[in-house]
Amino acid sequence: MSECTHNCETCTQNCDSRDPKSFLERSHEMSSIKKVIGVVSGKGGVGKSMITSLLAVTLKRRGLNTAILDADVTGPSIPKAFGIKERASASSIGMFPVKSKTGIDIMSVNLLLEDETTPVVWRGPIIAGTVKQFWTDVIWDDVDYMFVDMPPGTGDVPLTVFQSIPLDGIIIVTSPQELVSMIVAKAVNMAKAMNIPILGVVENYSFAKCPDCGKEIKLFGESHIEETAAEHGIEVLAKLPIDPDLAKASDQGVIELYQGDYAEHLCDVIEEKTK
Ligand code: ADP
Repeated sequence: MSECTHNCETCTQNCDSRDPKSFLERSHEMSSIKKVIGVVSGKGGVGKSMITSLLAVTLKRRGLNTAILDADVTGPSIPKAFGIKERASASSIGMFPVKSKTGIDIMSVNLLLEDETTPVVWRGPIIAGTVKQFWTDVIWDDVDYMFVDMPPGTGDVPLTVFQSIPLDGIIIVTSPQELVSMIVAKAVNMAKAMNIPILGVVENYSFAKCPDCGKEIKLFGESHIEETAAEHGIEVLAKLPIDPDLAKASDQGVIELYQGDYAEHLCDVIEEKTK
């Protein structure tokens, strides 16, 4: 367990002196989670789950114990990217995450459903309650970095998740075709209201590389991420291309075998800023 930082908004310790007014939930008493990073986006489909997966894989390769809490309950794509077929198990003391091939602990609603194609047609409070249980009732053993694949947007469900799980920082994922300035502003305001550090922003689908001449083609036009990030005083941590190999690795459930280095700098920053 990490040391108590005396700031209940960001600390993951379950001290008796925890601020009773806080909405933050305690993790399971048998859990040990050092750092928790939220990955957020303004809408679905921008690559939030992809980046969450790459972060967990990259830090795992660096010898750290990583975990993914898939809070994107209505679009849970993490188990598929890792090729996980088995169901999560439980005992009278709590639920257990499923371990990926390289040992990343994963919990997702798709690991609880009989059939992964069953749609999750639940109302907001039930979804938020499920995510809270992934934090409070799952035994997360010896985790250095947990990544939370947040529900997209800034509505009721992401707000509840933000309030209940003690995040040490967030990473904002955007794409060039979004209304970037508004989306980043909303995410920044939400994080600031909850006193959560913003580690930076990642632009996904920035360009595609011509397989013949190597030219970078900006499919969605010029990016405005640098100006937007500067306006809010945050760092652009990476600009990722549309990479067919990455899409293939995730579709085939072998994201852990993907060899690209897109997440290296991101992980340097995470390790540095959450020391
Ligand atoms: P979100 O979590 O934001 O809803 P996903 O991470 O599930 O989005 O990504 C949506 C789809 O796009 C997935 O099939 C994923 O494999 C693919 N994808 C994401 N980023 C890239 C990329 N940089 N290059 C190629 N495919 C990508």
